[in-house]
Amino acid sequence: MSFNLDFLLRENIKNLHPYSSARDEFDGEASVMLDANENAYGSPLSQSFNRYPDPLQLAVKQKLSTIKGVPADHIFLGNGSDEAIDLLFRAFCRPGIDNVILLPPTYGMYEVSANINDVAVRKVTLTADYQLDIDGIAAAIDAHTKIIFICSPNNPTGNSIRRQDIETILVNFDGIVVLDEAYINYSKQSSFLPSLVEFPNLVILQTLSKAWGLAALRLGMAFASKEIIQVFNKIKPPYNINQATQTFAIEALERIDTVNAWIRETVDERSLLVQQLQRIPQVQHITPSDANFVLVRLQDARELYRYLVSKGIIVRDRSTVTLCEGALRMTVGTPDENRALLSQIEEFYT
Ligand SMILES: *Cc1c(COP(=O)(O)O)cnc(C)c1O
Repeated sequence: MSFNLDFLLRENIKNLHPYSSARDEFDGEASVMLDANENAYGSPLSQSFNRYPDPLQLAVKQKLSTIKGVPADHIFLGNGSDEAIDLLFRAFCRPGIDNVILLPPTYGMYEVSANINDVAVRKVTLTADYQLDIDGIAAAIDAHTKIIFICSPNNPTGNSIRRQDIETILVNFDGIVVLDEAYINYSKQSSFLPSLVEFPNLVILQTLSKAWGLAALRLGMAFASKEIIQVFNKIKPPYNINQATQTFAIEALERIDTVNAWIRETVDERSLLVQQLQRIPQVQHITPSDANFVLVRLQDARELYRYLVSKGIIVRDRSTVTLCEGALRMTVGTPDENRALLSQIEEFYT
């Protein structure tokens, strides 16, 4: 068999008549808009929010299209990547029947979303060097496996997954392969975006929450074939991206130079942080990172975590996570923050 979108989709989604909003039915220029029961008098704010926003966010997608080199009709925007993840389950996975494959240790939201949607999870642990267990994945796939989630660079380990292995999965699996590139801006590896045309089953997730510095705006992106994007558009809440987010996103996307400068600085700070951590004898292992954080295995991780909390420094305790035993995940901060972190770690061990 080969990839067949109609075959993969849930029957109810295939047959769905989507909600048709006032803005769907008329989206031209007009001077009197009395079709959506909005307040025609205005909003009690300095900017106006009294009109419903563009359901398809075309102005934002236009800007993203230029930056990413992907046509606008291959882009879906969600209320964070989390919305795209949830919609994937709802489009493809029949509750109580279908399953997805997750590759721990990885981002926790895939499993939560699976559980919310009552979709079984098959876990294939990464290898000891945090790469794909290709044979294990092949063995876990059955006729009800709809989605495989790959995160690269992976959270919480920070490493990139080998490109060749991702391609092996894409070529041999007839379901959807979700490639979460939330941290791609910090990576030496290049994005799979230029390969979208080669793989009809590929869905790439990116976000404005990390490198773009807009976690509070909640804007996640999914890139895929036109057909898959049409499915997203059919089942999403009609006005899933609010006007404030659309307006600010457009403004932010003009300032890519600022963002690129931060990315360079973060990558430099990451090297420095790793170098200085390596000088601490109690640090046992640092996973080479392609992200804006490092996973560090060190002596007495749990106690160090609690000590740092007491000093007002919060890192992520991953010490009880499979394959991350004894490790803390540390986000790369400003130079001052990284210095504070390092001096408290040194303080703890002396
Ligand atoms: C932070 C992160 C995201 C971002 O999620 P948003 O909902 O877009 O903020 C997605 N995937 C991974 C792996 C992450 O670590």
